[in-house]
Parts: sequence; C-alpha cells; structure tokens
Amino acid sequence: MTPEELRLWGGRFLDWVAGYHERIEDFPVLSQVRPGEVAAGLPASPPTEPEGFDAVLDDLDRVIVPGLTHWQAPGFFAYFPSPATGPAILGDLLSSGLGVQGMLWASSPACTELETRVMDWLVELCGLPRRFASDSSGGGVIQDSASSSALCALVAARERALAAASGATLADLVVYTSEHAHSSICKGARIAGFGAERIRFVDSDAGYAMSPEALAEAVAADRAAGLVPCAVMATAGTTSSLAFDPVAHLAATARAEGMWIHVDGALAGAAAVCPEFRFVNRGLGAVDSYCFNPHKWLCTNLDCTAMWVADRKALTDALSVTPEYLSNPESDKGTVIDYRDWQVPLGRRFRSLKLWLVLRWYGAEGLQAHIRSGVAWAQQFAGWVRRHPDFSLAAAAPLNLVCFRHRAGDDANRRILAALNESGRFYLTHTVLDGRCTLRLSVGTVSTRAHHVEAAWEAITEAAARL
Ligand SMILES: *Cc1c(COP(=O)(O)O)cnc(C)c1O
Repeated sequence: MTPEELRLWGGRFLDWVAGYHERIEDFPVLSQVRPGEVAAGLPASPPTEPEGFDAVLDDLDRVIVPGLTHWQAPGFFAYFPSPATGPAILGDLLSSGLGVQGMLWASSPACTELETRVMDWLVELCGLPRRFASDSSGGGVIQDSASSSALCALVAARERALAAASGATLADLVVYTSEHAHSSICKGARIAGFGAERIRFVDSDAGYAMSPEALAEAVAADRAAGLVPCAVMATAGTTSSLAFDPVAHLAATARAEGMWIHVDGALAGAAAVCPEFRFVNRGLGAVDSYCFNPHKWLCTNLDCTAMWVADRKALTDALSVTPEYLSNPESDKGTVIDYRDWQVPLGRRFRSLKLWLVLRWYGAEGLQAHIRSGVAWAQQFAGWVRRHPDFSLAAAAPLNLVCFRHRAGDDANRRILAALNESGRFYLTHTVLDGRCTLRLSVGTVSTRAHHVEAAWEAITEAAARL
C-alpha cells in the first residue's frame, strides 16, 4: 500500500470508525449472535488474489458488527468501562503508523522519554507519592495490563526475597492476597512459580476488604512453619464490589516482615484525578508497586496500564537479561531507561502516545468531569436502590459501581438481568457476594449520560414488576 493509497483508505476507514460511534445506539449492546455465527460468515481459506478494501468495509458491517458487544454504547454498564475515545484512537493510530519498537532507549529515544514524562504527569495529576516519580528512586512504566503488572511485581518480590533470605528456595516463599482480589493475582503467582499451596487467601471483613489482623496471623503461622512470607497483593477497588483493602495497615505488616506489597487499583485508581476521591490512594506512600488502568476509567482504549514502583532497581534486577545484540553505549553507561527491563516481553509499542493525546485533549479538567459524572450518576442510582422496597445495595458504593439485588432471590435477579440484556438497550453483568447473585451497574462509558442511567433503572424496576 503506497502512502497515497494509505491516505485514501485511511480516510475511508477513519470515517467508518467515526460513523460507528455516531450509530452506536442503533445496535443491541450485547451481541445477539450464537457461537460460530461470525466464523460461518467468513471464507474458510485466505484470499489468493489481492482484494479491494470496499469488500472489507462491507464485511465489517455485515459480519463483524453483528458479532460485537458494544463497549462504547451508552447503555454499557457491564464489567468496567473500556473507552475508545477520539484522542486515544488517534494516539494508537500514530503508534501503529510510526511502527517504532521501544524496547531500548536507543531503539527509539522518543518512545522512552515521552513515556517517562507522561507517567510523571500522572503522578502529579493523581496525587501519587513522589517516590513513584522518575527523579526519585522509583518510576512509572506503561504495561499492557494490570495482570502483567501483578506478574512483574511478583517476580521482583520473589527475586528480592530469595536474595534476602539465605538458604530459602522458591518452595518456601508465600504470597498473600484475598479471595476478592482479581483472578490475575493468582494467575501471576502461578506463572511466577509460586506453588498453589503457597498462595494464601487471607480472610476479608464484612465489606470484602482484606483483614490486616488475619494477614498478621497468617504470616505468623507461616513463619512458625519455617516458610518465608514474600508478597502481599492488595486491591484498591475490587472487581466484584469495589472494596478497598486497608493498604496502610497491610503495608505496615509487609514492611515489618520484609515483604513486597503491590496494590492493584485497576479500575478505581483513575478516580484520583479528582482531589475529593484521593481516598483511593490511601496507603500508597508505603507500598513497593502500584498500578491502575487508564484503559478502564481514564478515557484511554486498551491497552494502557500505568504501573509504578518505589524502587526501580528491584524491578530491573529481576527482569533484566542482556545479550550482546542488545548492548549499546547508552544502556551500558546506565544513563537511560530501557523499558524492556520493566516488563515481560522485549518488544513494546509506543503506547504513551495515546496517553499523551488523551491528557492533552481532555486536560485535568476534562478527565475530572468524566470521573465526577460517573460517580454522581452511580450515586444517584444507589439512592434509587436504597429507597426501593424490593431492592437493596449488596455492598458499599463508594464510586461508580453499584452492587445491588432484588430481595426475591437468585433466580429473580437472574431473570431481571436477562430481561435487561435481551432488551438490547443495556448490558449489565453479575457477581456473587455472600453466596448470593448480585447485579452490578458500572458507570463510566464515555457516551453515557444521566438519562441512560435513569432508563436503566426504569427497565430494572419494570422487569422486577413482571417477576
Ligand atoms: C479489570 C481488573 C483487572 C484486570 O485488568 P487487566 O488490565 O485486563 O489485566 C485486575 N484487577 C482489577 C481490580 C480489575 O478491576
């Protein structure tokens, strides 16, 4: 494809994407296709001859769109938001268009230096501890996911613990988390080589937050058994119910025991752009690593996870392996950052471009307005739930997620959920809290307005009236 053809088709495809966003309310939010239906619309074999792209545009509308669940639709209240905003789309386009590989500073200096700068901007914007800034002992890196961030933290924790505890082996190391932590914590621990019998699910309190007393007891029991406590994996805003582990308390235990403490703030961390919601950062001044996902609630599309460490050397000591073909004068002098040493893969895309564009397009004020509206609408919804005789909140609703249920039991709640999702206007998902089916309304899709939240509540109460 020549640059001239790229200009032509680029215009057509961008136009298609903009049109998709304009038409977003025309589609059923949850895809209605059956398994195999999309595949059946595609030829079994690849094309032999080059094809025109008009056919591709047709296929997008005919085969692909019906097989989409529309995460950008204003009635999307499922899981968590995943925002494809204009500036983020354009940032990704630039990243693809430039095609640089940012594995080393030397492999594209701008890719590294822009990333360091926007990560420092986020430290300031979110009121994060100064030790996460690049001019201190720590620093930030853009990972592909909160899952990868947890894995990197676990590997750093493992290496630090093995270096500190003479004679200890991997089989002696213990990881502590809670049953409400994201599944990626358990998966990361598995990948990092911790045995299943060395992962402790510390008890939670009635609000689904990890109990510091239970952590201290579990650590003491493991010490008594000759094991080596290695890492605490805490959550600031759990996936199920947005519960906040008491990070400051947990960090005190971690410190005293020489453990690494990582905090997963994947969804809730973005709220810190608003000074009034900085409670989400509580305790971060004493942790080893932290991450949140701009690709969830901060107007940035997948994939963009912001991760910080308090001591970058602990991370790079664990992840740096330098073959001769990657050695270069700047890296050898140690005067530059090579982000390959902060992550699992070698290769890395120019992800900071989209974060840079998002921050410049919205400014702090625009991002704050987005967070505030999501919280305000969720709080309004929580108020309606509280005042309804048949519905009640299933958990505290501190921000943009409301967990609620009808008093008629699991089956009734499943039927309400099905009615809503089959309507095509909304998509909500569920979780289980206290062994009971719980509906979740997650607000934060960029196209959502107050009236969409009102309409969802109306549809919920109507479905309940038909039970
Ligand atoms: C969504 C979520 C994750 C997973 O995020 P990825 O970036 O997809 O790995 C992890 N932890 C929490 C608390 C989440 O809400």
